[in-house]
Amino acid sequence: LPPFEPSDPIGIDDLLTEDEKAIRDAVRTRCEAVIAPNIAEWFETGRLPVRELAKEFGELGVLGMHLTGYGCAGMSAVEYGLACLELEAADSGLRSLVSVQGSLAMYAIWKHGSEEQKERWLPSMAAGESIGCFGLTEPDHGSDPAGMRTRARKDGSDWVLDGRKMWITNGSVADVAVVWAQTEDGVRGFVVPTDAPGFDAPEITRKLSLRASVTSELVLDGVRLPEDAVLPGVRGLKGPLSCLNEARYGIVWGAMGAGRSAFEAALAYAGEREQFGKPIAAFQLTQQKLADMAVELAKGQLLALHLGRRKDAGSLRPEQVSVGKLNNVREALEICRTARTILGANGISLEYPVIRHSANLESVLTYEGTVEMHTLVLGQALTGHAAFRG
Ligand code: FAD
Repeated sequence: LPPFEPSDPIGIDDLLTEDEKAIRDAVRTRCEAVIAPNIAEWFETGRLPVRELAKEFGELGVLGMHLTGYGCAGMSAVEYGLACLELEAADSGLRSLVSVQGSLAMYAIWKHGSEEQKERWLPSMAAGESIGCFGLTEPDHGSDPAGMRTRARKDGSDWVLDGRKMWITNGSVADVAVVWAQTEDGVRGFVVPTDAPGFDAPEITRKLSLRASVTSELVLDGVRLPEDAVLPGVRGLKGPLSCLNEARYGIVWGAMGAGRSAFEAALAYAGEREQFGKPIAAFQLTQQKLADMAVELAKGQLLALHLGRRKDAGSLRPEQVSVGKLNNVREALEICRTARTILGANGISLEYPVIRHSANLESVLTYEGTVEMHTLVLGQALTGHAAFRG
């Protein structure tokens, strides 16, 4: 029999191809070299070298890696998922940078953009030379974006955008913003260069979660854009929702990375820390915690892999992504909270990754559809009754 591997207790590795494992290992090695030594400081200070990191990720080939053409790597959904897991094992903030760039901003342009928009932006975004953000959420419209107030009106052949977006990842460091706005024809997406007059992106400070990630407000005050700034390929909320579905898929994997990192920290700590004359790993209560964590990690990764194989086969439904996001973020958070108890007082220190992952996952639980929204999506799929409006 093959040996028992604590970080892969049920042998999920056997379900991966050699290419998939090679990509996973390459991302892990890069994250360990570039992110791990610095992440505690970036998180503590709330400052990180986003431009350098974007270029680093561009060289690694993870920006828009599941897209084809225009300098993108054309990898499979499973390969993209494995990269997300490794990035989030480093920090959810860094995975957010990659998700927003690849699955939200680049995907919107790749899927719904004109040939000119694709050629203008995708190669430099894939290389990490240009950074993108994705503006859907507004101060008064989060889970229910249908009521958005940001407006785009025609003035001659130009478009003029007015409104505000809130909680936008990469906002103040972006070169290009994909902004969703209400028009006479329903919701449309706009490709907005962030140096356009009337565009501003003040950073949101005082966050206690995803501190190693830039989050901003977008202010659009009479931003005038040419006729061809609109994404021609889609109208209505299905535009932004199609992009969110891509990014959520990455989170299904990513959350398990944060969970794995917390689990590994707890397992190592439990083996070394002695109380009452024994390593705390020798106490039954600690073993129960570790066993529960290992079981949930194994189940969550199997779920992610199953959804990834469906995505590669073209048969993945949005409700199935909801199952993955709902379960894996919830369980990853539980794993981090349990890991924190094993570390005792050290569990609240940035010397260990656990409280950082735990704080980060509070955002991951909310963005890309809150845990409640995914529950209602699943509830509707199960019962046929939509319960979003009371
Ligand atoms: P609300 O929609 O006001 O919800 C508040 C609470 O009410 C939640 O628990 C919610 O589940 C619950 N609720 C709402 N409606 C119902 C209902 N019908 N039934 C039951 N419960 C309900 N957005 C972007 O567009 N781009 C980004 O790049 C981006 N990055 C983000 C980064 C961070 C760090 C964070 C925290 C958020 C980010 N967001 C981004 C915003 C995120 O997508 C929203 O926060 C999310 O959609 C929830 O919206 P809200 O915060 O307005 O909460």
